[in-house]
Amino acid sequence: MTRYVMVADLNRCVGCQTCTAACRHTNATPPGVQWRKVLDIEMGEYPNVDRLFMPVGCQHCSDPPCMEVCPSTATGQRKDGIVTIDYDICIGCSYCAVACPYQARYKVEEARFAYGDTPTENEAIRFDAGRIGVAQKCTFCADRVDAGLAKGLTPGIDPDATPACANACIANALTFGDLEDPNSKVSELLTENTWFRMHEELGTDPGFFYLWNEK
Ligand code: SF4
Ligand code: SF4
Repeated sequence: MTRYVMVADLNRCVGCQTCTAACRHTNATPPGVQWRKVLDIEMGEYPNVDRLFMPVGCQHCSDPPCMEVCPSTATGQRKDGIVTIDYDICIGCSYCAVACPYQARYKVEEARFAYGDTPTENEAIRFDAGRIGVAQKCTFCADRVDAGLAKGLTPGIDPDATPACANACIANALTFGDLEDPNSKVSELLTENTWFRMHEELGTDPGFFYLWNEK
């Protein structure tokens, strides 16, 4: 079995948002839609404050509430753990967006581009009309993963089989890979470091792990 997950090392993330930009470029998401977002969090109390940068997005939960509430079966889950949306089946009810505890889903009602009505060259190439009026979210770049696998590449090791955000990270803070493979980089990182997951108490079994060695 395979379960693809993301590990974000909060000790390394510098909040540059290159991951956000790489995701936006790769998926041509419209203004205001960030499948890979980075939260800027202030911790502690004056004068002992610290700043924490936290990449977030769909957590590809293994028990996803978004899928449970979906009345049209548009939200699905692959055998490798990636949570999917079938744009052709989605009826745009947004139940999933309400049910998601991670605010990972978006719905856009009309085509919007970075600089007004005319798409940039990249937006024109990557525009997907099927996403209008339906739910959308991070896909873990499933198309890249699948294309890479078809070429015999390893997700998380070979860039052509790895999500764009992880490839782009300037600080090596994002690592993608198979949690079920004990020799994968993600498994190694989780064995060697202290980690947590968001809203663990909700039982969603998120596929996004955060390394954090409190100072
Ligand atoms: S993070 Fe939200 S959208 Fe993603 S799988 Fe979990 S519940 Fe669904
Ligand atoms: S690119 Fe890397 S360092 Fe920059 S915000 Fe994203 S995860 Fe953090």
